[in-house]
Amino acid sequence: MPGKGICKAKECNHQAVGKGYCRKHYRLWKAGEMPKARYKICTAEKCRKPRFRASLCQEHYTAAHGKKAETAAAAPAAPAPAGA
Ligand SMILES: [Zn+2]
Ligand SMILES: [Zn+2]
Repeated sequence: MPGKGICKAKECNHQAVGKGYCRKHYRLWKAGEMPKARYKICTAEKCRKPRFRASLCQEHYTAAHGKKAETAAAAPAAPAPAGA
């Protein structure tokens, strides 16, 4: 394995300094703006709300599954997960 490695952020090749991120991305990570933050957040694009269910916040979970998701037999297909 390489020594410290490089930033694991997408398309970033800077040297990692913490949590596998470079200085810039490590700062974002601490601010909760990177995937795999300290707390689980919604996986919807540009959404950083805390997760509610199925890796989505309440708003996006409701949007994806509908308000009757809990009782509906056939839920609509979930949107494709964003690539890591
Ligand atoms: Zn980086
Ligand atoms: Zn969301």
